[in-house]
Amino acid sequence: MLTLRLQPILNGLISENQSAFVPGRAISENVLITHEVLHFLKTSGAKKHCSMAVKTDMSKAYDRIEWDFLIAVQRKLGFQEKWINWIHQCVSTVKYSYLINDGAHAAVTPQRGIRQGDPLSPYIFILCGEVLSGLCRRAQRDGTLPGIRVARGSPLINHLLFANDTMFFCKSNKKNCETLHQILQTYEEASGQVINLGKSSITFANKTNIETKEKAKEILGITALGGQGKYLGLPEHFGRKKKDLFALIVDRIRRKAVSWSSRFLSGAGKMTMLQAVLSAIPTYTMSCFKLPISLCKRIQSAMTRFWWDETSGKKKMCWVAWKKLTRSKKDGGLGFRDVEAFNDALLAKLSWRILTNPNCLLARVLKGKYFRYTSFLEARPRKSASHGWQGLLVGRDLLRLNLGKAIGNGEATSIWNDPWLSLETPTKPMGPATLGTAEWTVAKLIDPHTKTWNKEKILSVLPNLEQQILCVKPSVLGKEDKYIWLATESGEYTSKTGYHIAFAKQSIEITVLDTNNESSINWTRDVWNAHTSQKLKVFLWKLSSGALALGENLFSRGIKANAVCNRCGELETREHMLFLCSFAKQVWEATPVRNLPSFTSDQTFGTILQEVKSWICLPPVGLMGSSLFPWICWFLWLARNKQIFDERGFSLSDTITKAISKAREWEAAQITTPTTERRLGTGEALPLHPQATICFVDATWTVENQAAGYGWLFKTQAGVVIREGHKSEAPVRSPLAAEALALREALMDAKSRGWTNLCFKSDSQTLIRAIRSTENIAEIYGVLQDIHILASSFVTIAFDFMPRSNNLQADSIAKFALSSFVSLSLFSSLVTQNG
Ligand SMILES: [Zn+2]
Repeated sequence: MLTLRLQPILNGLISENQSAFVPGRAISENVLITHEVLHFLKTSGAKKHCSMAVKTDMSKAYDRIEWDFLIAVQRKLGFQEKWINWIHQCVSTVKYSYLINDGAHAAVTPQRGIRQGDPLSPYIFILCGEVLSGLCRRAQRDGTLPGIRVARGSPLINHLLFANDTMFFCKSNKKNCETLHQILQTYEEASGQVINLGKSSITFANKTNIETKEKAKEILGITALGGQGKYLGLPEHFGRKKKDLFALIVDRIRRKAVSWSSRFLSGAGKMTMLQAVLSAIPTYTMSCFKLPISLCKRIQSAMTRFWWDETSGKKKMCWVAWKKLTRSKKDGGLGFRDVEAFNDALLAKLSWRILTNPNCLLARVLKGKYFRYTSFLEARPRKSASHGWQGLLVGRDLLRLNLGKAIGNGEATSIWNDPWLSLETPTKPMGPATLGTAEWTVAKLIDPHTKTWNKEKILSVLPNLEQQILCVKPSVLGKEDKYIWLATESGEYTSKTGYHIAFAKQSIEITVLDTNNESSINWTRDVWNAHTSQKLKVFLWKLSSGALALGENLFSRGIKANAVCNRCGELETREHMLFLCSFAKQVWEATPVRNLPSFTSDQTFGTILQEVKSWICLPPVGLMGSSLFPWICWFLWLARNKQIFDERGFSLSDTITKAISKAREWEAAQITTPTTERRLGTGEALPLHPQATICFVDATWTVENQAAGYGWLFKTQAGVVIREGHKSEAPVRSPLAAEALALREALMDAKSRGWTNLCFKSDSQTLIRAIRSTENIAEIYGVLQDIHILASSFVTIAFDFMPRSNNLQADSIAKFALSSFVSLSLFSSLVTQNG
């Protein structure tokens, strides 16, 4: 409870040097800033005024916090006494029991410390860390500990906090070292925290002389040298051998895979395992740094081995290339992640943050160093750049493939250089810029008074794009423009959509390679949505992909010893084993399916797989005909293996009865309780303010001329209509845009009346949901922002969803507005034609 309350306000309380546990701040930012500073130290040519980085480790971080200190900190941050009391009770009501000689002895109430594992603890902990941060900031202000800037245009940073991992950056002279030492001591005394000097280390700039180093070590009491270690679990610095630094990841995957393969895992189990666990291991690293290609390959090969090898660890043939496994299931793959594409998608997430939060610390540090005079999008790669920055540029380039700009006031968007014209693909006007307009922003096309498009200007600058531009609805209240990611409705970047784009970009080159009979298979319908168990779906996939150790598959890979059927000596093809071998034929003949077709040699597995849909089981089997098929195939396969390895297969009747009973067993387990469908939440209507005016809003829209009509009416709670309004315009992009525009009109109308308490009713669920959450919708960005701004100017305001049937009055006003608009514009176009 308290945690939930605390979370949203943290961003305002905690300084930007702390990134643990604060929503919206990512650990990866701290990692990259530290990385950038260490890169600076490594490449710094300074000989006199050298800098250094000090990594400290707080020992027993949680259980040493002094309660008095905690209370004082909260007072200082402006928390109310009531709150402070609550927190104090939370931490001080802990009782520890000690186990001595098998008996629990009297509960001991501790005098300090906060509980590890309590959801509140990390937050309390960083509130206290804020004090350390404060000490550092003060020292920065008075010049005793200015910190480091990685380039002339970058901000000075003297510390970074991540929970109990703390980095300090300063000059290595005596004065700075003494200040730092003083700060640490003050903090230790006040908070009860102790810095573990043994686990702390100093990284000096490249050319620092020995005396300076020794002096600094002596003052701080830290002897270990840093730079080769880790910060927040990742390598601090990358030398020439990046591969080796990341090699740990591959080891972890291998170990995990081995520990799991000791248990029995079916194909389906392995699939889950690969997707969930193994692919998650490198995720953290990959969200900060670009992995070397060779490493991606090694990760992939570790995962490939896990997938194909036997549970005993015996190496097996990899029947299908990894590249193909990473295709979506619909395209015959298994939907495994391509490591490199996933890496790029995660990096793009961080790049997105730099692009959309140019004021965050990381963005400012990087701007000063790498794109001081241009924008992030224009920054060019440099040889001397840090590895971290190079990775961010890879992410940035992925963003560019699908980046758009949503127009607010148009001031931050260049007419000619920004992709602001489309919601589908990044589109900017075809150049070259007309005379004198090269530097123009979109704001130049907007009338400064009405805040709507200046049609004359548009016609003179971009005559061909008039309709397209008019569809974009700018913010009339001056909200800034915003970058949008075109693959999501909200316009926010997600790594999932980023991955699809990165993957698609890569696989353009490999689609051509697709050959053979697989193209006839409808993977989604006949394999993944087949009415059977997960294990058998994977089996069907293997059959369809030629991924079983059948004679023909072995033969085509040069293993010629066992190419023939063990029963009859013919070439063992998939079709032979399943349908054509006399044993298989007998099994099928005995299978209780009505009108079973006889299999011929010109049928492939793919075509048969489609036909089984129409099979009907004979009573009393009590199964769907199609659900028996995969089980019979499975037991034919098992019978075949048993025949080869045990020299004694299943008998005919064994094969059938096993298949039927397993199929029944599975089907019986599938009887599920019907799930009640949940209505998409637009939330409960809040209690209404007694004096609130109710406003009914509606819009209509036509496809043909993209015209929209808006209608709204205000009623008292007794149902008396006080005011009606309507408007119409064209072009409008969609019904949703029309609904949003109608609502904005109604809000502006209410505001101009001076009303203070309102409740708006609309029949657009999407719109109401977007307003109630803080989620954006790229398509109506400017209008939605205006609605938020307008809404905040009323005393009480509510937005409710209401079915169309209850909104008929507003609906008919909107329809009227639209029809008169359409006939009017028809009339005027006739006039212009005849005139
Ligand atoms: Zn045979």
